[in-house]
Formats: sequence, structure tokens, C-alpha cells
Amino acid sequence: MSSLEYEYIIVGGGTAGCVLASRLSHAGHRVAVFEAGPENYADQIMSPTGGPLLHATEWEYQWKSVKQAHLGNRELANYGGKILSGSSAINYGLWARGHSVDFDQWARLVGDERWSYSNLLNYFKKSETFHDRGAAASVDQHGYEGPISNFSGLRKYPLKEKTLEAVKQSGIEHNLDGNDGNPLGVAPFTDNVKNALRQPAGLAYDLSKADVFTNAIVARIDIDQQSKSATGITLDDNRSFKAKEVLVCAGAIKTPQLLMLSGIGPKEHLESIGITSVVDLPVGQNFHDHISGSMFWKLRNPDQGLAMGSPNFNDPSFRTGMPFDWIVTIALPDEVLSPAAIADGTSLSAAYGSGPRGHVEILMPYAPIASAGTPYRIPPDGTHVATPVVILLPTSRGSITLASTNVTDDPILDPNYLATEIDRTIMREGFRAAIRIMETPAALTYVEHETPPPGYPRLTSSCTDEEIDARLAHVGASMFQNAGTASMGTVVDADCKVKGVNGLRVCDASIIPVSIASHYQAAIYGIAEAIADIIQGKNN
Ligand SMILES: Cc1cc2nc3c(=O)[nH]c(=O)nc-3n(C[C@H](O)[C@H](O)[C@H](O)COP(=O)(O)OP(=O)(O)OC[C@H]3O[C@@H](n4cnc5c(N)ncnc54)[C@H](O)[C@@H]3O)c2cc1C
Repeated sequence: MSSLEYEYIIVGGGTAGCVLASRLSHAGHRVAVFEAGPENYADQIMSPTGGPLLHATEWEYQWKSVKQAHLGNRELANYGGKILSGSSAINYGLWARGHSVDFDQWARLVGDERWSYSNLLNYFKKSETFHDRGAAASVDQHGYEGPISNFSGLRKYPLKEKTLEAVKQSGIEHNLDGNDGNPLGVAPFTDNVKNALRQPAGLAYDLSKADVFTNAIVARIDIDQQSKSATGITLDDNRSFKAKEVLVCAGAIKTPQLLMLSGIGPKEHLESIGITSVVDLPVGQNFHDHISGSMFWKLRNPDQGLAMGSPNFNDPSFRTGMPFDWIVTIALPDEVLSPAAIADGTSLSAAYGSGPRGHVEILMPYAPIASAGTPYRIPPDGTHVATPVVILLPTSRGSITLASTNVTDDPILDPNYLATEIDRTIMREGFRAAIRIMETPAALTYVEHETPPPGYPRLTSSCTDEEIDARLAHVGASMFQNAGTASMGTVVDADCKVKGVNGLRVCDASIIPVSIASHYQAAIYGIAEAIADIIQGKNN
């Protein structure tokens, strides 16, 4: 140990990287973090509603996918934080833990109960301070002393009750607490905004005991070819640092790029661009992300101040978070998905196991919100609300491959969205469920009709599959839940150790082998807490 500068080098001071840096350094370990972006907590970043405005800034990677055959052959935008705290510093603040059965599927897949929901629960609790004690259905499912505060119901939007009524009238049940391991139904929208400010991971988790290097781009992991051991890292300015163990936390797009640049990945692909192979592993494969598509709904009486942009939508509390009260998570019936599974040459039980799963989500914003990168937008002028539909459990899998040997070049992103009939069916059913909500008597008291993009027909409950497919091909956009590119089971083992290389782990969204019915930050905080214990031998 004494000849090594650090015990742990963390590559990427993002969401998971900051958790690990904090926990390991506070436990007395000598830790260095290398983060490609700057440290910055400017107002623009700390604003709880600022996420959508950060896309064209220096604090984000601005990736583009290759043309997506099932989405109108468009190249889709994708983003990630390039700043200390990573994507937690630029995301939209929604706090959604996911479904217990998703984690159980993960545990089964890798044959290790530590990744089951019941074992991760302690770590979800450890990461959060839950502020709805008493109001929530399941007090024992939450933590009350963790670094990340989360809240729901702080803002009183005028359409809160009518929206809930509309969702219930469409046949969806009210779920008092969607963050207790079962998100199904219509649940309160929860965000991790505290005192009207964002909580970036690097502020919420104390980094004062770690050496933090910002604007420090790691160009490769140094690996001793003889012993197949990681010995440290080299930056793109050629400075090198040594460590007992390297923990790669560069996120699901940049982690596979860095592994491949270091000789860890598909041998044939690496050799085709002149990289000497260290170990042949399916790095970059199993890439999954959540695709979304929004519909915009014209309000009957916009002058009543029902949506963002109206001069009468002016309660000061509305500036303290995104304009939502509710989030809807739907399990589709077997009889709807089975034919699609057969068409894909699989079975529903192979894809999802048994029991209800959260296949699709409908967000209910009081603004014409659509994910960044969609070509169709309506200005937030108070005239429209929206229903973004998000696939949560896609079965399509894509890949990240190298475009060059330069770490600052973007890798090639092919998320392969909607490549399976299951996924296309889920999105069609999600659109239909959103339309059903907006056609209920409760919704029709405040909404007139859908406002389609120019040249497209209005979507109603009598629309055809082809009309929904055509719409999605036009408006589909990533929700930025990139994951799976250094999957547990294939690239890393259940301790997150890279197979065939000593002293190297991957600890970020890349390791998630299966899709999770959530947006990933809450899961990643919990997973990173679990990994911190695994590294210290406390969770074995
Ligand atoms: C625009 C957007 C909105 C989102 N909204 C939500 C939301 O509302 N709710 C939710 O739950 N989730 C949301 N997410 C997803 C969630 O934020 C991410 O899944 C999660 O934060 C990823 O954590 P991570 O630790 O895997 O990676 P990140 O937090 O992205 O961290 C990776 C870090 O590694 C650094 N890095 C990369 N390469 C190198 C290198 N070579 N050298 C040094 N450093 C490097 C990066 O700069 C970055 O800081 C959103 C994501 C995006 C992009």
C-alpha cells in the first residue's frame, strides 16, 4: 500500500462517483476523484426548474445517436452531466425508486441476492431523507437521515384534483406512495429539490475528505498486461496517478468508451481500430434507454392560470420545482403483450418473469413538456398541458462502440429504440392509456383536444396503431436513462469487479443489467451506497 498514492481512484465525479468518494473517504480510505467537468453551483444549475435549459451548455455532453430505424430514421439527442456531481447536477429532479420486482429480476439474473429489492432497501433508505412521514402509506420503506431529501405535494397546482380524478376515471388506481417498491397506479410526483434548490450529489455527499480533481479527463485506465491488473489512470494531459483499485463511474456512455480505450471490450472491435485487447468482454452491449413521446392538450380556459406560461399561473411556490402533481405507472395485461412477445420470438415470462410489471409511464405536467431533442414543441404560454409517455421496461438492446481512440470524441451511440414488437406495443398502449385519461369526463372539463404536429391527425381513442407509430416516429425522444453497457453478469461480477482484470470495478448506471421501472437517479444513489459497502467488505 505505501508505494501507492491512493487506495481508490474514482473515474468520474458523477452521481455514483460522489457517493463512493464520500463514503470511502469518510471511512478513512485515501481517495482521489477525477472529473472531466468543472465544479460549479451557479444559480442556473441549482435552479430546480433549470434542467431543460442546461442542454446546450458546457456542463453537458451533447451526444447524438445513429439514425434510429424505428423512429423515422432520426438521430436522437442524448445528454449527460459533464460537471462535478455528473447528471445529478443537470437532471430534472424526479425521484422514482422503481419496482421491487425489477431488482429481484436483476438478483435472479446474476444469482446474487444482494441485488434483490429487500437487500437494496437498506441502501435506498440510507441515501434519502423522506419528508412525507405520516402522509405516506409505507413509513418503513423510507429513510429519514440520508443525504438526499425528497418531497412531494409541496406545490398546490390548480389542476391537482381534476387530474387525479381524470386518471382514476380512466381505471387507474390511486397509489399513495409510488416510492415504496411498488410504483403502479397514479402516485404523487416526488422530487429531490430542497429549499427550492437542486441537490447535486457532490454537495449532498461531503467530499471534503477526498482529493477532487476537476477538469481532469481520464484518457485510459493503466493496466499491467502481465498480471492483468489495473494500476492507476492516465489523464489526457499525460499525467498519471496510481492506486490500489480503480473505480470507474463515468456513466453508461463514457464508462464503456473508457474501458474499450483501455483494452477491455469486444476484441475484434478493439483490434479493428488499433487497440490491443486486454480482455475480451461484451462492453458497450446491452445498452438500454427509455424512449418517450409527448402529446399536448389544449386547455378550455387558459386564462384561469392552469398551466405554466399563463400570467395567472403565478404562485411563488411554482418556481420551486417542475409543474407536476402526479406520475402514472401502468402494468400492461399479458394478453396485450403476449402476441408481441411471440412475434419477437420470445415469451412474456422470458422477458419479464411473472406478475405485473411497470411497463409504461405517463407524466402529467401542467406545461407542454416533451423530452429534449423532439422536433415538435409548443411554447409554454399557458394554453397546453401534456402527457409524456415513457417506456420503462424496454426489451430492445443497443450498443456503444468506439468512433476513434480519442477519449474526447463521442463514442457511437446506437440505442436501437423500439426494435422489438414488445416495445412498440408498450408505447402504443401507453399512448392509448394517456388518451383515455384525457377523454374522461373529468379531463374534458378542462381540456378541449389534442394539438397534433402540423400535418398529423389528432390522436383519439379511435386512432389506429399506424397513426400512433407515425406520431412516435416524429416526436420520440430519449428520456436519458442510459444503462447496461458494462452489465453485471457479463462484464462485471456481482461485486462490480471487471471480469479478468484485477483492481478494477465499474460502479455506475453501466452495471444495471435489466431495465428498471423508474428514472434512474434514486436507484443509482441506492446502488452506489450498496457498492461502497461491498468494496469495504460490509455487504458480502
Ligand atoms: C438531461 C437528463 C435528465 C434526467 N432527469 C432525471 C430525473 O428527473 N430523474 C431521475 O431519476 N433521473 C434523471 N436522469 C438520469 C440520472 O440523472 C442518471 O441516470 C444518473 O445521474 C447517472 O448516474 P451515473 O453515476 O451513472 O453517471 P453520471 O452522474 O452521469 O456521472 C458520470 C460522470 O463521469 C464523468 N466522466 C465521464 N467520462 C470521464 C472521463 N473520461 N474522465 C473523467 N470524468 C469522466 C462525467 O463528466 C460525469 O460527471 C436524467 C439524466 C439526464 C441526462
